[in-house]
Amino acid sequence: MILGLRTLSRARGFATASSVNGFTEAVGNTPLIYLKTLSEKIGSSIYGKAEFQNPGGSVKDRAALGVIRDAEERGLIKPGGTVVEGTAGNTGIGLAHVCRAKGYNCVIYMPNTQSQEKIDLLRMLGADVRPVPAVAYDNPQNYNHLARDYALTLDNAIWTDQFDNTANAYAHYVSTGPEIWAQTQGDLDGFICATGTGGTLAGVGKYLKEKSGEKTQIWLADPPGSVLTSYVNSGGKLIERSGSSITEGIGQGRITNNLGTFVNELSGAFTIPDEKSIAMVYELLHTEGLYVGASTALNVVAAAQLAAKLGKGSKVATILCDGAYRYQSRLFSKTWLKAKGLRDAIPEHLQKYAVL
Ligand code: PMP
Repeated sequence: MILGLRTLSRARGFATASSVNGFTEAVGNTPLIYLKTLSEKIGSSIYGKAEFQNPGGSVKDRAALGVIRDAEERGLIKPGGTVVEGTAGNTGIGLAHVCRAKGYNCVIYMPNTQSQEKIDLLRMLGADVRPVPAVAYDNPQNYNHLARDYALTLDNAIWTDQFDNTANAYAHYVSTGPEIWAQTQGDLDGFICATGTGGTLAGVGKYLKEKSGEKTQIWLADPPGSVLTSYVNSGGKLIERSGSSITEGIGQGRITNNLGTFVNELSGAFTIPDEKSIAMVYELLHTEGLYVGASTALNVVAAAQLAAKLGKGSKVATILCDGAYRYQSRLFSKTWLKAKGLRDAIPEHLQKYAVL
């Protein structure tokens, strides 16, 4: 039977959405997904903010729009101008989308170690991609510094400076935070997520803390190789960065401006090993039907860990940062998993999803 329009219009159980004017208005207002199977298993409620539903595919669409709007409002960029950033991932993709939608040129500096897929995607989005040798942050030839230096040579151009430009965290303070508050009716015991720039954690965390009168605890989740967990749990000691993780886009070696003094307001932090993150990538696919990247999986592991700490029946929210599409040649490849020593971290009954 072919469904008629009358039947379709009566279809129930689907999300409703409003009509919006263009790409930029489609950023934000993402659903908050109750992770049913996981929540029932642990006896607490875990909610994931579906940031992969942003039109550019990740949580960074909000930051990209936020930094460009801020520059426009301050008169730093005019029509036809150029946006320059040093980024290897989702921020660049978000910026490239916003630049097309607003008619700006987009120049992206990135380390030449990045996958061809990322370079291709940015080029398809119209960005001028400049791969440069991968050198440490304290080297003046680092991609971030080259982006800043290039922007300074142009008229009508900005370097968006995602790590230290607090218009990034502000975008989450005025959008992601209020959305989560409204979607949970303010009944939330904890919020936790990982940080790259720190914009999401500080922006959402600050809003929820203020609105709840400190009732909602804010925690940080870290991959191995990041220094933030030890910084938070030692009361402010910054250690040398060492180790690495398969999670992309998160982990940090310093206190960025976006994290800023908010880092001192965190209730605590967890480091989540890659074994647990990769297993959760597969678990979320199998039990919740969610196809998400490794930073999302890390966030969900951390949310369950925080719920256990806060007690049975607690309510904890986190961020579902992006989909697995950008990483699938790795996360679902048997060879890659084996090379990383992570094949055995995936439970036997979930190994069938590693089809590449
Ligand atoms: N997950 C992914 C996949 C990301 O690309 C990023 C941003 N680099 C984050 C999480 C962290 O977001 P933020 O920069 O707001 O800390």
